[in-house]
Amino acid sequence: HTKDTGRNGYTFFTESLQVTANRQLRLLQDLRRAIPRGELVLHYQPKFLAAGSDIIGAEALVRWQHPELGLLSPDTFIPMAERSGLILPLGEWVLDAACAQLRAWHDAGHDSWTMSVNLSPVQFASSNLLDTVRDTLAKHQLEARFLTLEVTETTAMKDVEASLQILHGLTDMGVHISIDDFGTGYSSLLYLKRMPATELKIDRAFVRELEDNSEDAAIVSSIIALGRSLQLRIVAEGVETAGQQQYLNKLGCDLLQGYHLGKPMDAEAFLRNA
Ligand code: C2E
Ligand code: MG
Ligand code: MG
Ligand code: MG
Repeated sequence: HTKDTGRNGYTFFTESLQVTANRQLRLLQDLRRAIPRGELVLHYQPKFLAAGSDIIGAEALVRWQHPELGLLSPDTFIPMAERSGLILPLGEWVLDAACAQLRAWHDAGHDSWTMSVNLSPVQFASSNLLDTVRDTLAKHQLEARFLTLEVTETTAMKDVEASLQILHGLTDMGVHISIDDFGTGYSSLLYLKRMPATELKIDRAFVRELEDNSEDAAIVSSIIALGRSLQLRIVAEGVETAGQQQYLNKLGCDLLQGYHLGKPMDAEAFLRNA
């Protein structure tokens, strides 16, 4: 992680690995206590209709208010949570907290808003995902159609057949499935064909240079055309400029998310800005 080699590059390298390993171990110990201590928080990023400025709902994004390190982004602890199995209680906490928030928003009059929750592929390996989702919706008296679960295809999805069966169980229940980060990683057309998805999220890697890069523009309009013919709702993530917003709306994208329209924020700020 550093260009500083010192006099003995090898020793320095092993020491820094040791430091990294210790820090990770410490963080993992802290993460085990984070849920009971109430250190996890959800931020909510609005999802907008591309055509106007109407909010249709939010995506819940987890953060960790670490007592010493401050507010940590999911990239710093989700991979560790997945490796250790902590992602299961963490994922259940996220689902419950997001549904509780949506219940509160519905009660406050925003009763058409939807909630998107990210699912780790590891959560598909746990047999009780269907029960957890059903029970959580019932607990908060929410119809399944208000919940979207965002999934990405990854090699961590060990048993594809079993995962697909669970996904069908979820859609049978009425929950929406969104394919997140579409076009990157392992997502493929074969995967798309087999997924019982209702929504496709175009990865922000294709949105970034949309206006200046004709290849990105071609890819985005192809994804939109493909999604349209498969009757999927198309969401673009990472919209950072008014130009990108206009362009995506012109191309026929249904929904938009991005810093230009609204950053992830706590529940209070979300309602103030809505
Ligand atoms: P994601 O689901 O693809 O979420 C979008 C990420 O892009 C979020 O980062 C969001 O803050 C960021 N983003 C939104 N708009 C813009 C923009 O205009 N420009 C740029 N540069 N970035 C934008 P975040 O919150 O750090 O989350 C990162 C990833 O962590 C998420 O990617 C998701 O895969 C994962 N994650 C977040 N919350 C959860 C969770 O509760 N459970 C699981 N399993 N994964 C989660
Ligand atoms: Mg997502
Ligand atoms: Mg995404
Ligand atoms: Mg992502």
